[in-house]
Amino acid sequence: MPQLRCPVCGLPVEVPDDALPGELYEHECGATLELYETGNGLSLRVFEGLEEDWGE
Ligand SMILES: [Zn+2]
Repeated sequence: MPQLRCPVCGLPVEVPDDALPGELYEHECGATLELYETGNGLSLRVFEGLEEDWGE
């Protein structure tokens, strides 16, 4: 697993080798980060909560 960085504060984020896309990590800066798959590996983005578009 390459070193991933927090998109909010820019510091490294420890992600286990068996991490899967969609998993959430709370970073020390307070941001909730979501692991997602890119074309050539995994990256992190800010998780802004579950979508509430359930049609009702
Ligand atoms: Zn951070």
